[in-house]
Amino acid sequence: MKEENKLSRRQIISGLSASLAVAAVSPILPAEASAAVDAAPEPLKDPTTAYPRPPFKSQTQPWPGLASKMEPVPDHGEKTYKGSGRLKGRKALITGGDSGMGRAAAIAYAREGADVAINYLPAEEADAKEVIALIKAAGQKGVAIPGDLRDEAFCKRMVEEAVRQLGGLDILVNNAARQQQRQSILDLTSEDFDATMKTNIYAPFWTIKAALPHLKPGSAIIGTTSEQATDPSEDLYDYAQTKAATTNYVRSLAKQLAPKGIRVNGVAPGPIWTPLQVSGGATQEKLQKFGGDTPMKRPGQPVELASIYVQLADPQASYATGQVYGAAGGKGMP
Ligand code: NAD
Ligand code: MG
Repeated sequence: MKEENKLSRRQIISGLSASLAVAAVSPILPAEASAAVDAAPEPLKDPTTAYPRPPFKSQTQPWPGLASKMEPVPDHGEKTYKGSGRLKGRKALITGGDSGMGRAAAIAYAREGADVAINYLPAEEADAKEVIALIKAAGQKGVAIPGDLRDEAFCKRMVEEAVRQLGGLDILVNNAARQQQRQSILDLTSEDFDATMKTNIYAPFWTIKAALPHLKPGSAIIGTTSEQATDPSEDLYDYAQTKAATTNYVRSLAKQLAPKGIRVNGVAPGPIWTPLQVSGGATQEKLQKFGGDTPMKRPGQPVELASIYVQLADPQASYATGQVYGAAGGKGMP
C-alpha cells in the first residue's frame, strides 16, 4: 500500500468525529421529511370495523353507474388521503378515473404532487367533475378526457390529449373495465363478449402503444387486474378471463420494458365497493352480502387501495416490476 493511502487509527477516529460533529449540526432528515415524522400520530384503527359491513341495501343503476348514487357512497379518500410529496412533478393518465379505484388513485396522485388526466364515459360526467375539482383543490392540474375506450382511434386521441395538456406523461394507469355478470354462457351474447374484450384487453393494448413513445426511463405503467384472474367466478366467464390476460400482460410487458427503464405492475383487488358492482357486475344476492365471505367480513373501499397505486408509481419502488399487488381482505391470491 502506498504511504499516502495509509490511514492511521488516529486519523480515522478524528475523521469520524469530525463527520459526526457535522451531522449533529445539520440533521440527517431534510426539513420536509422531518415535518411528516413530526405530524400527530393517527389513532390505531381496527380494519374489520373501519368501513361498512354487509348486509347492504339492494340497489341497481344503469351501466356504468355513478359513485355518488351508491348507498353507502364509497370512500375514495376525499376526506382522508394525506400526501407526502411522493409523486411531485409527475404526470399521470388514469382510465376510469371518475369512480372506484381510478378515482382513489387520482385523488392520491394529486395529493402526492402529480398532475392528473382522467378518462371516463360521458355518462359519468357528474362523478368526473367531482374528481377534477378534488385534483384542483390539491393544487394540481386536472384534465378531463371523456370518451369510449372500445374505439382504437379514441385511445390514441386520449393519450395525445393527456400528453398535450399535461406537458408529458410518466404514469399510465389502465384501470377501466367492463364487468357484467351472466348466470350462463348461453346468456352471454357475442356483443357482450366483444365489449368486455374491447374494454379490458384491447383498450390497454391500444393505450400502451400510444403512450410508449412518450414514456421516459423511470416511468410506470399500472394495470388493474383482479382476484378473478386466479379464482374466477362462475358468472363472470368473459370478465374473469380478461383479468387473467391483464395479469399476464403485466408480467410480459414488465420483461419487455425493463431494459427501457419502464416498470409495469398490477393491482389485484378483491371485492371493492364501486359502481361496477351495482350496475350489472353482481347479482342482488351477491351485492347484499358483498365482501362478507372475506376474512375481513366486509368489502374494501377504493381508498384502501390508493396507497398501492401510489407505491407502484413511486420512483422509490424502482426494483418492483412485473409484480401484482393484491388487496382482497385476506381472501385468495393476486
Ligand atoms: P368503477 O365502475 O368505478 O370503474 C370502472 C370504470 O371503467 C368506470 O368508471 C368507467 O369510467 C370505465 N369504463 C368502463 N367501460 C368503459 C369504456 N368503454 N370506455 C371508457 N371507460 C370505461 O369500478 P371499479 O371497481 O373501481 O373498477 C376499476 C377496476 O377495478 C376495473 O379494472 C375492475 O375490473 C377492477 N376490479 C374491481 C373489483 C371490484 O370489486 N370493484 C374487483 C377486482 C377488480
Ligand atoms: Mg365510473
